[in-house]
Amino acid sequence: MNLEKSGEYQLFIDNEYRSSESDRTISVLSPIDGKPFTSIPNASKTDVDDAVKSAKRCQVEGVWGSLDNLQNRMGVLRSLSQKLRREKEVFAEIETRDCGKTLDESRADMDFCIDVLDYYAEITPRLLEPKEVKVPDADVKSYIMKKPAGVVACITPWNYPLMQAVAKVAPAIAAGCSVILKPSPWASLTCLKLGQLAADAGVAKGALNIIAGGGGGGAEDGDCGAHLSNHHLIDRLSFTGSGRTGQALLHVGADHLRPTSLELGGKGALVVFEDADIAAAADWALVGIFACTGQVCSATSRLVVHESIAESVISRVVEEARKIKVGDPRCKDTQMGPLAFRGQYEKVLEAIQTAKDEGCHVAVGGSVPEVDPDIRDGYYVQPTILTNVPEESRTWKEEIFGPVLAIRTFKTEAEAVAMTNDTPYGLGHGVLSADTARAARVADALDAGIVWQNCNQALYPSTPFGGWKKSGFGWEYGEAGLEEYVRHKTVIAADPGYSWNIYVQSS
Ligand code: NAD
Repeated sequence: MNLEKSGEYQLFIDNEYRSSESDRTISVLSPIDGKPFTSIPNASKTDVDDAVKSAKRCQVEGVWGSLDNLQNRMGVLRSLSQKLRREKEVFAEIETRDCGKTLDESRADMDFCIDVLDYYAEITPRLLEPKEVKVPDADVKSYIMKKPAGVVACITPWNYPLMQAVAKVAPAIAAGCSVILKPSPWASLTCLKLGQLAADAGVAKGALNIIAGGGGGGAEDGDCGAHLSNHHLIDRLSFTGSGRTGQALLHVGADHLRPTSLELGGKGALVVFEDADIAAAADWALVGIFACTGQVCSATSRLVVHESIAESVISRVVEEARKIKVGDPRCKDTQMGPLAFRGQYEKVLEAIQTAKDEGCHVAVGGSVPEVDPDIRDGYYVQPTILTNVPEESRTWKEEIFGPVLAIRTFKTEAEAVAMTNDTPYGLGHGVLSADTARAARVADALDAGIVWQNCNQALYPSTPFGGWKKSGFGWEYGEAGLEEYVRHKTVIAADPGYSWNIYVQSS
């Protein structure tokens, strides 16, 4: 198997690496220095069709997804996790070069992928076990079976390239589905490389296909994502990305009457009460906005702080943000890397300009940092903290998806809850208070799929993650994450010869 043919990455279809039949490629620029370093194929309609048909054949043959093959699938997941553990450093380096996160962040992503693969290998057998349900008829037994959802398309974004992919691929494979994974053209490399490990781990032909290319942006962007989501053989679609694309995919799903899960954007808030520990609050606030250069769907990009401690909290976060070392993510002491690609870099700088125009006060950052001359063309932005942010401003309302924290103060608990919930999004919020009853009460009152109480951004393979409101629907991780990839089947089984004797009397 040959992944990198003359430095180019290839599509993974039917357990083979190959170029796009169209020979079209997309040049990959590293956000570290803005320079091209490899290329990925831009899959054509024919490539997409080949990948989907490969996945369909795998389902029709029936062996891969059967209950009898369950232990084999768990073995594939375990072997895949072991192989990824062995190759962790190589994968982390590629992730960093491709999307700009620091090496430590990439390593943590790989560790999480390994844990997620192991988690589904462990919990799936228990969850797929047919369950008997009681019925009032002594001659009848009833079972609920969990069958694979079939051919599944997984479309993912660029901020956590391999993690977002594994969040879908691991439970889908565990359930016995066959997958066509389409990562973002801005960060596809580790996903394409996953194919090699999966084949070596013994994944069945067609159970995992990985294609690369644009979304639905027409000739320039490529239509790989649109061809995939429009394919009539897709039984289920799982999408992580922007609300705009999610909405388009829901329309496409309606045309096909197909279940669609959406993991979309957010505008999270961290609420800090007057009794919170200031140092811990400052740390959680910075974790919530500067990890992964703020390109986190559940980022707490709003800080909602009690007015009585606002001055201390703000001066502490500003002081610490000023010390964050921004630069080459491959260097050991770098704490924040570049944004993942030029478009996102321009979008974030534009959002900072909008904040200035809206009258926000730039307490720290607000521009591009000084970096070494050899990475001058990379996509670096300073950690930025804004105060005096008007409640109705775009800065307070809209997702920026970059290292920009907006701060407002509150007087009462009710005001803090109302301010936090006053967003169309509902992905993740946090609350910090020494009064655990109050922290629990506020956590309960916040409208979001995940709430952190006296912490922020913590995530485990066993904890379901998903959004409310315009942050989407469907779950990743945990037992709920597996449920996304199964179809329930009820079997009502009577004893032989059993009859209701309605039209014909038994002799
Ligand atoms: P995006 O919607 O532009 O792209 C996501 C994926 O969809 C990419 O693979 C892209 O090529 C593909 N795509 C684009 N148009 C398509 C179309 N018409 N048909 C089919 N596929 C298409 O999003 P993005 O910019 O890559 O990601 C950033 C967004 O993702 C942010 O809003 C962020 O909050 C969100 N996000 C959400 C979560 C979550 O778990 N809720 C996690 C990470 C990112």
